[in-house]
Amino acid sequence: MPRPSGKFSRLRKRLADWKRSATVDRRRLISWVLGLVRLEDGQPFSFRGHEYLRGLYEDEFPRIVVRKAAQLGVTTWSLLLSFHLCANVLKVLGGIYYFPTVKDVRDFSRGRAGPLAEANPGILSALGDVDSIEQKRIGKAFLYFRGLRSAISVKSVPADFLIFDEIDEAPPDKVELARKRMAHSDFRIEVALGNPTLPDYGISAEFESSDRRYYHMKCPGCSRWVSPDREFPTKLGEEISVIREEQDGTAYLACPHCASELDRAVGIWVPEKQDPGLAHGYAMSHLLSIKVSPAQILEEYRTTRFPQIFWNTTLGRPYADAGAKLTRDQVLALCGDEPLQEESTKRCTMGIDVGGRFHVVVSRRVDGQHRKVIHLGVHHEWSELDRLMHRFQVGRAVIDALPELHGAKEFVGRHPGKVWRCFFKEPVRGGASWDDERREVSINRAEALDLSAAAILEGRITLPRRQPRLELFAAQLTVDAKKLVTNDETGEQRYAYVLTRPPVMPGENEEYRENHFRMALTYDLLAASSDTGPAVGACSLSGVADLDTRPLHRRTYGPQRQWRILRRRVREMRR
Ligand SMILES: [Zn+2]
Repeated sequence: MPRPSGKFSRLRKRLADWKRSATVDRRRLISWVLGLVRLEDGQPFSFRGHEYLRGLYEDEFPRIVVRKAAQLGVTTWSLLLSFHLCANVLKVLGGIYYFPTVKDVRDFSRGRAGPLAEANPGILSALGDVDSIEQKRIGKAFLYFRGLRSAISVKSVPADFLIFDEIDEAPPDKVELARKRMAHSDFRIEVALGNPTLPDYGISAEFESSDRRYYHMKCPGCSRWVSPDREFPTKLGEEISVIREEQDGTAYLACPHCASELDRAVGIWVPEKQDPGLAHGYAMSHLLSIKVSPAQILEEYRTTRFPQIFWNTTLGRPYADAGAKLTRDQVLALCGDEPLQEESTKRCTMGIDVGGRFHVVVSRRVDGQHRKVIHLGVHHEWSELDRLMHRFQVGRAVIDALPELHGAKEFVGRHPGKVWRCFFKEPVRGGASWDDERREVSINRAEALDLSAAAILEGRITLPRRQPRLELFAAQLTVDAKKLVTNDETGEQRYAYVLTRPPVMPGENEEYRENHFRMALTYDLLAASSDTGPAVGACSLSGVADLDTRPLHRRTYGPQRQWRILRRRVREMRR
């Protein structure tokens, strides 16, 4: 058949466009995109190859959460949703599309929003100031693009809808602040999306508290509904039942029950929790995409040397390295069989976290670096802390210097030579520095929290026997998690601890999501790390984090001898 002439082809295209647009219901996103929208490449919008996205486009619930792998077309949805709300929903006066940084805003506005608007003159004609990177006028409404890490950008305009893109890279307190932008709107829509990083953090925490929808495909063999995401293993090295290999090395998405090939185009989203009050949450991985072959996923699963990247960007699931986030089981495994003590005849150390109340951890040395935690307390008065100092023969205590700056200073004064106030100094690393004059210790916060993580992971402490107080203690130890963060100005990356939001278990309350005992244990271990005589406490161990200081704890060595051993070890390590 001869190729149609240019003119004929243009006419045919216009006829097709007219047919598409004739039945459009502009009030509905799905009808609007299918009827009127063209993608960046000029082709009419279609779900071909992205059938799993249909559920998202049909969803008009005001709170939506998408926990996703990379490159699944979700960003196009969130952008078209913003255009749609501005152009077609009369009540909307404005919305804000949030990114982590101002650079992300620029890249997105130029690279995605601009071309998508240009491909759709229908929308473009409604766009007032197309060239502005930070705001676009669509119809009567404004769409603003903002970076969350910049303080100036967060406050500013009121909004009727908010979109948080890559929420894991944005500071959680800024997200909360941004949510206040909608306080005066009668019409509130909130969307959060992103690649997950740590469990119980950012998009993963949002997804866990949503109704958790998974895409289910109907097996043509046995008619069961199968969700590849839920069937896929949770750990590396396990058998995969949802991908099958052929003799020729290819692989296909398979029903785990009858091995029939699953059709990605035929599926529905099924929520795990039925509760009309919950946000709608969608979990999307590369298992849903026809652009990634199952063989590729299988290969990556078997050979990856970077599990974090595999779980986060291919499977769209959170992941924490061993040690990045402690688990309750890791903590409770260290429980011994002794009850909590109320006093001690042996010298102890004490760590105190100051908040609405005082959380206290008291421990004593057993042998070498091994310590036994003998008291876990929650107290209300400074006088109670004074009594603990005496009852437990506390030789060295470290207390949170903030927020009760004055109270902590007075406490130091009442126990001369025994109590140090702790200040966190960022971003300086290189060990704790003890100021014996002012009775202050300063340390990088991440390094301090590493002390408590290492003590738990290496089993260097014994805890009292299991009881309700220990359950709370274990829960509070799991709240902080270590995350790689980037400095926007210098581009420098470093590890920092962030607060996660673990789910509240039955019978527990918000207290189980706070980190007071983690801080108290950290302060106690900090006190213990220097409780070997003044000379050792004051020396700098910079750059020799792995230094073995065990013999130094023997009481028979005086300060001079300890110094000599330590200097020799430092020399040996640096050689
Ligand atoms: Zn089947």
